[in-house]
Amino acid sequence: MKKNVKDIQLYIDGNFVDAANQEVFSNHNPFTNDKINDVASGGKGDIDQAVSAARKAFKGEWGQLKLKERLAYINKIADLIDEHIDEIAPLESYDTGLPISQTKKMVARAAHNFRFYAEMVNSRLVGEVYQVDDEFLNYTIHKPVGIAGLITPWNAPFMLETWKIAPALATGNTVVLKPAEWSPLTANRLAEIIDKAGLPDGVFNVVHGYGETAGASLVAHPDVELISFTGETTTGSEIMKNGADSLKQFSMELGGKSPIIVFDDADFERALDAATWGIFSFNGERCTANSRIYLHESIAESFTERLKERVQNITVGDPMDEKTQVGPLIHTNHYENVKGYLELAKEEGCEVFSGNIPEEVSQGNFVAPTILLGAQNHMRIVQEEIFGPVIAVMTFKNEEEVIDLANDVRYGLAGYVWTNDIKRGHRVAQAIDSGMLWVNSQNVRDLRTPFGGSKHSGIGREGGHYAFEFYTEIQIIHVALGDHHIPQFGK
Ligand code: NAD
Repeated sequence: MKKNVKDIQLYIDGNFVDAANQEVFSNHNPFTNDKINDVASGGKGDIDQAVSAARKAFKGEWGQLKLKERLAYINKIADLIDEHIDEIAPLESYDTGLPISQTKKMVARAAHNFRFYAEMVNSRLVGEVYQVDDEFLNYTIHKPVGIAGLITPWNAPFMLETWKIAPALATGNTVVLKPAEWSPLTANRLAEIIDKAGLPDGVFNVVHGYGETAGASLVAHPDVELISFTGETTTGSEIMKNGADSLKQFSMELGGKSPIIVFDDADFERALDAATWGIFSFNGERCTANSRIYLHESIAESFTERLKERVQNITVGDPMDEKTQVGPLIHTNHYENVKGYLELAKEEGCEVFSGNIPEEVSQGNFVAPTILLGAQNHMRIVQEEIFGPVIAVMTFKNEEEVIDLANDVRYGLAGYVWTNDIKRGHRVAQAIDSGMLWVNSQNVRDLRTPFGGSKHSGIGREGGHYAFEFYTEIQIIHVALGDHHIPQFGK
């Protein structure tokens, strides 16, 4: 399906504008690799303008709104997203190759993010009160930090962007968003929605562009108080170095290589469903994907056989088709990268077992759902994030061994444990070094619970009240209730 998508501009101070230097980059459709449109490629000058607009709005109209008025805007954004789900989800699938049945759910979730934070801010702005003694009353308040710089990846763009934008705006900050260059469409659609919701100019700005130019300028800008980043671990590290001079606050949501462990007493069929969904949903381009599976040796053979059957039956195809389960990877560069890992797997001694790609879709960036058999922990295909529909299969003998294997990577984003022994479930869950761990479940997440990784998978937590804390500054106010003693210097 060819969509007629107009060229994309930057959104600065309430206006859609070209990049100051008039530069553009091309955006491509992953299903056909045809060009979709041109995207304005912002640089330092555009970031400077966006930050200056954000500062003006923060000091001016936005900063002076009553809480009720601000939250009405946030709820209005949620309403408009809901009204346009049927248009935003196809746009997201068209831009990213993510199957439409999956993007529809993500877009609905984005609207929830706004409502959730409107509600949370309303109930949490009250700080703590300390009646210290009969001379002092101290209390805390949560204030917006200022200008939030948000830098996002391409793998679930609309959801991950709104995940940051909703708490940032609801708590009273202004925003400069730098979306990923491979998936710019829905960020622009969001700018149109926010424009329509009538937020004051400069509250929300979008500067498209490359990481090394637009992204780096945002990070280095002295007036940007915080950076919330989701992306690769190496980029996160680069950003922290670049932002150190201006002492920014950082939230880092980084890469993953998450294990799923299946014990011999697990509910076999449910574990199989979860393992299959957990790696092959979102085309495997999912930070929390279970890309390493550890099977107890007594069930390894039967489980692997069933996993092979599943892989052969997964529907690979046009992301705009409701029946499609796995679509094309985002970009030819990423496709080459994932294919390179399949070659590497062979060199490292694995058997590469792949499902099918229908002939009629062979023009896109398709990688068939793939199982790497005979993998071992020391291999690069087990240690590195492949970020595609590829799962490495390994076996274990006992609990101690599998805990060691699961923890033997530099990442620590998520993990999954399947067992019907309740004590073992808790024990193993707590022994895994990961920010998040699901027992007998796939990646289900309630918006109230935090999200984030340990080790090289991240710093800090997003979601729930953690995002509220990140986007606010706590001020402690000390009030004297009477005339307490003050030292008399120089009297
Ligand atoms: P990436 O790091 O290449 O890019 C992410 C963003 O950073 C893009 O907008 C990019 O333009 C920008 N960027 C790149 N270099 C920059 C620089 N020097 N300064 C400032 N900005 C810069 O990541 P990606 O390939 O877009 O996304 C995939 C990665 O994201 C995977 O590693 C995945 O695991 C991770 N991810 C993590 C989570 C999580 O919650 N932990 C969620 C989704 C994706």
